[in-house]
Amino acid sequence: MDGRQTENTLRSAALTDITFRVARIGLHFYEEPCFSGENGSGTVFFSGCDMRCPFCQNSEISHDGQGVNVNGEELLRLFSELEKQGAENLNLVTPTPWGKRLIPVLKEYKKHGKLPVVWNSNGADDPGLLRGLEGAVDVWLPDFKYSDAALAAEYGAPTDYPDRARAALREMRIQCPTDVFDSRGMMTRGVCVRHLVLPGATKNTEGVMREIAAVDKEMYVSVMAQYFPTPRVAEHPLLSRRITAEEYDRAVDAFFAAGLKNGFSQEPDSATEEYVPDFTDSIRTLKRLLGR
Ligand code: SF4
Repeated sequence: MDGRQTENTLRSAALTDITFRVARIGLHFYEEPCFSGENGSGTVFFSGCDMRCPFCQNSEISHDGQGVNVNGEELLRLFSELEKQGAENLNLVTPTPWGKRLIPVLKEYKKHGKLPVVWNSNGADDPGLLRGLEGAVDVWLPDFKYSDAALAAEYGAPTDYPDRARAALREMRIQCPTDVFDSRGMMTRGVCVRHLVLPGATKNTEGVMREIAAVDKEMYVSVMAQYFPTPRVAEHPLLSRRITAEEYDRAVDAFFAAGLKNGFSQEPDSATEEYVPDFTDSIRTLKRLLGR
């Protein structure tokens, strides 16, 4: 065995010792245009989330933990599969609970992988974790859900969510101070913040826009209209309805009032279950890809 083989064997041993839980991989065409592109964003949906939003549209995986256990080597194989399918990027969805374990896998991927790595999180990432990921992630795609701490607590987020989201966003911007797009308009490096407009929460949205603008008025912001109520919130006094066109208009007004300039909007009638993948089917596909 030569030195290179020894190194590879040691690497495999280390990565096979790390376990993740994944619910889906596949090309996704409903991201912002600079992520979906023509070929689709290469999404990897991790199971489990450290927030408990009652309105979560992926609750089978975020709350209930549906998915398949994969080790670090298998995860790298899934990344390669997305490359083969022609993905525009590797879009890690809800990666935060797996963050520390992802560091060695992403660093390994970066040695040979071709795709920009996108960190698609709920926004409450610990800055220490983000520093550990520096160089392994190309594009930060965090949510900024709440500026209102009481609303955050009411909806299953940590009470200090606004402080956490602000600190995380600052760290992301330090690592990527400018946004870089390729010749096809794909973001290959940078930060884009998502805000899902919730029913009856206009003040919260206004505060979020001010928070983002306080970090950088040049930041790309995706103002999302796609909220729709799942059966879990069918009886909730506010969450049981979609947002109104007026609420969405007020969110866009808040974006401009905060001095923000760059971003993406959605049609208010875009609230549809089409955005939500079928996880039962995707778990079967995952098992097939992994030879199980
Ligand atoms: S942060 Fe996102 S994935 Fe996590 S529970 Fe809330 S909506 Fe679901």
